[in-house]
Amino acid sequence: MRKITAILLAALMLLSISSAFAAEAAPQTAKYVFFFIGDGMSNAQTTAAQYFLGTQENAESKTPVQAPLSFTAFPVAGQMFTYDATSFAPDSASTASAMSTGNRILSGSINVGYKQGEKGLEPDAQNTYKIITEYAKEAGMKVGVVTSVSLDHATPAAYYAKAPKRSAYYDIAVQGLTSDVVDFLGGGGFLQPTGSDKAQKDLLEIAKENGFTLYNTNEAVRAIGAEEGRVLAISPELRDGQAMEYEIDRLAEGGGNLSLAEMTAAGIRALEGNEKGFFMMVEGGKIDWAGHANDVGAVIYDVFALADAVEEAVAFAQKHPEETLIVVTGDHETGGMTIGYAATGYDVHMDYLQNQKTSYVAFDKVVDQLAESKATFDDVMAAIQDNYGLTREEGSKLSLSAQEIARLSAAYTFGMLPSDQRKGVTGPEEQMHYGGYNPLSVTASHILANKAGIDFSSYSHTGVSLPVYAQGAGAELFGGNYENTEIFTKMMEAMGLSADK
Ligand SMILES: [Zn+2]
Repeated sequence: MRKITAILLAALMLLSISSAFAAEAAPQTAKYVFFFIGDGMSNAQTTAAQYFLGTQENAESKTPVQAPLSFTAFPVAGQMFTYDATSFAPDSASTASAMSTGNRILSGSINVGYKQGEKGLEPDAQNTYKIITEYAKEAGMKVGVVTSVSLDHATPAAYYAKAPKRSAYYDIAVQGLTSDVVDFLGGGGFLQPTGSDKAQKDLLEIAKENGFTLYNTNEAVRAIGAEEGRVLAISPELRDGQAMEYEIDRLAEGGGNLSLAEMTAAGIRALEGNEKGFFMMVEGGKIDWAGHANDVGAVIYDVFALADAVEEAVAFAQKHPEETLIVVTGDHETGGMTIGYAATGYDVHMDYLQNQKTSYVAFDKVVDQLAESKATFDDVMAAIQDNYGLTREEGSKLSLSAQEIARLSAAYTFGMLPSDQRKGVTGPEEQMHYGGYNPLSVTASHILANKAGIDFSSYSHTGVSLPVYAQGAGAELFGGNYENTEIFTKMMEAMGLSADK
């Protein structure tokens, strides 16, 4: 008996020694960290993109096909909750802050805690949180922040600023430019380049004073190489909200303008020479905007744009496979998008979506021109056919029913009304039908989506969980079910960093 105990003890000792060795030989810490956030992206958005791509690539297929995106092929997948301090359907400010600092805060504020105020909970400007990029910087890493929307928008801001209100765009940008956190800031422009009163010092001047070199042409951004100093890269083609173009429009215009992938590649080239590596956050910000507008084509193409940007990180990781971590997720879902619609039952036709040519933003311009020229309804229907494939001719898969034509006609008439005459009509019903968007554009988007078997339940964010995809150093940490605040702790662990007490 004693002999057996001795053997057992010896075996136990051996086990503990070997596990100590295993701990020492633990996977290398992540020296190069990529964090991609598809704003408004959950399973419906990625799955629709995969089915659409699969359908495009296998046009002859009689059965459903899906094509993997760069990140859906990653070896690790997890799932996270997105609720914030007070909301099941949170905004990008609180969700990005949860992931950048590990704290659950109020919708609308960035990396700032909250307290009980007279009218309920309010942001507590005295209580700010340390950002993962600040830890990375202390560890000698360089920091890149890239987005397809304006540089001062909530998601990028959460990686370099602290603000009780996300709408303090000028103050947020000033923090990013004057603190030493960000080395590469690239994407859209600034929403308030000279402040909300247009009387403050120009942000580009502040950038220059703080060591940034500005690159703002396609050629200049494409030529960015290894950089000693700090880089401010702004796409010359800015559209709605100082953002880069929707990918569907960029491609419709020939694809010559900068893509999110090119912006990401420029950031990699600028930072990769750093001895201690880098942390780079890349946001696909317009998946969310398209989701708000219930524009399924724009959603899908902006998921592709994000997947292409991830492709750049994957190519980089092939050079440093042991030291690179890539994590891809969203911040919340937008639009309540789903595959399956009451009127189409079990039928989904992803191929119908190929008929959409531009985003709702580009089509809004067409509608404005039609309205200005007092175009006839025939002209309007011709424009809709050009852009969405929807037709009054019978016998096509996209033939419009009398009821659908009536909806388009009512939307066009309503949209033509001067805003003061719309007021009497504007109410919950109009909100349901048009969500504050151009009535004709959003109605055409709805009809095409519904014919394809896609539907949206909201013009806002929703509370469904999100998938998290990971590959590389520390990727295994991202499997399982967890809270979005754990993205921060998992990334810190992967980088071998510990948070201040
Ligand atoms: Zn949103």
